[in-house]
Amino acid sequence: MVYPIVVFGDPVLRKRGQSIPLNSDIAALVSDMFETMYAADGVGLAAPQIGKSIRLFVIDGSGLEVEGEDMTGFRKAFVNAEMLEEFDEFASIEEGCLSIPHIRDNVKRRSHLRIRYYDEQWQLHEESFTGMKARIIQHEYDHIEGVLFTERLKPLKKRLIQRKLDDIRLGKVNTDYKMKFFNFR
Ligand code: ZN
Repeated sequence: MVYPIVVFGDPVLRKRGQSIPLNSDIAALVSDMFETMYAADGVGLAAPQIGKSIRLFVIDGSGLEVEGEDMTGFRKAFVNAEMLEEFDEFASIEEGCLSIPHIRDNVKRRSHLRIRYYDEQWQLHEESFTGMKARIIQHEYDHIEGVLFTERLKPLKKRLIQRKLDDIRLGKVNTDYKMKFFNFR
């Protein structure tokens, strides 16, 4: 099942996601999230982006060509993820977001991280990531913390995109995928 993607302006995107009770049945949801992500041509999707305020995100960066990095097999579900550490030098990399269509900008983040998470079979993992993999994880992890990448831009950049963000919030945006706008009344 393909969900519509919740678009900027919906308060669910600003909420910290709840932990998922251990061993609950999430197989169908995880599979739907992958399907939704592929339908929108994304490399990551977090549960708040389909309106669910829970600590779950999926990533498939295996099709990305990244210089100096082997992205093979980088397809994972992160359940109840907990960022343990972000470290090393800062890198500035361009990001975009399915919930904020047509806006892309450089975001500065640490280049290494260590994260603990369950997979969709409730196996616990603790792993380190770097480069593009770390970057995708950081972006999605932000989503389950209620943070959007636009909040990490410098104040001047934020002002420059404010008008575009307002348009998106009001539904004045087009994408190839189904979107869900927040209803203001
Ligand atoms: Zn995003």
